[in-house]
Amino acid sequence: MCVFCKIAAGEIPCTKVYEDEHVLAFLDINPVTQGHTLIIPKKHADDFTQCPSYLVARMHGIARKLAKHYDGILKPNGYHFLSNAKTAAGQSVFHVHFHLIPRYDATDGLDFAFRGTERHKLDPATQKKLHL
Ligand code: AMP
Repeated sequence: MCVFCKIAAGEIPCTKVYEDEHVLAFLDINPVTQGHTLIIPKKHADDFTQCPSYLVARMHGIARKLAKHYDGILKPNGYHFLSNAKTAAGQSVFHVHFHLIPRYDATDGLDFAFRGTERHKLDPATQKKLHL
């Protein structure tokens, strides 16, 4: 059983902030900002590419509710909502989870920025192929 399955089963403690039949949310053990929260499905899937869409939608809904709730308590100025899928993307726990990360200001401790560059631009033929 993976570590998040053990948390969902109550075998490993966590600081729970939300629970229903399908979804659990708890504070990250190693928070990158105050209120850093993980939202997981109770049923195991390795990452969001493997997780049924209805559960991803449900986790998104819970993230929105938690964000509104945190607004009144932690008073952040913004949020990240993201999920790392697979090692190349930095995933370290292979049970799908979404990070809800409150942001306060540029000095809140998290250095996260998209620094786009010209060299990542796709040629037009490849761009066309990407259309699903
Ligand atoms: P990722 O690197 O996207 O897979 O994120 C995994 C996250 O899980 C990290 O932010 C860890 O700090 C967090 N984490 C790992 N084990 C636990 C745990 N037992 N309780 C709470 N958070 C955890």
